[in-house]
Amino acid sequence: MRIDYHFSMQRTNQQQRANQQQTVLRALGEADGPLSARELWSRLIGSGKSVGLATVYRALQRGVEEGTLESVEGLGRGVRYEPKDREHHHHFLCSTCDHAFDLFGCVEGLDSLVPDGFQMTGHEVVLLGTCDACGNAA
Ligand SMILES: [Zn+2]
Ligand SMILES: [Zn+2]
Repeated sequence: MRIDYHFSMQRTNQQQRANQQQTVLRALGEADGPLSARELWSRLIGSGKSVGLATVYRALQRGVEEGTLESVEGLGRGVRYEPKDREHHHHFLCSTCDHAFDLFGCVEGLDSLVPDGFQMTGHEVVLLGTCDACGNAA
């Protein structure tokens, strides 16, 4: 009996973990830009989900290991995450609230900047400024 009980507890925990993983990934997929673990966590809490910060960290880590998420570094403070299947895009970083927003579309004419003999294999563009919420609050 005790063994059965133990097994079913384990299954419940696994199920719970899988559900939480899904909740975390779905919230990240619906976000308007890459989020840090803490940002994602506070959004989940804000929408009434009861999930711990450690769970969010674990879910993000697992997402990266499984190849569904990508970590975005060098964008404001800390590491942010976004779904790996997003098409080519760039980010807008608000210097007031430190949120990053997805931008769709790209910059034309970057090849004209490349010196002779150089080969460009990619580019990173981050727009900096103030988001609408912070701009309106000022
Ligand atoms: Zn802002
Ligand atoms: Zn681009």
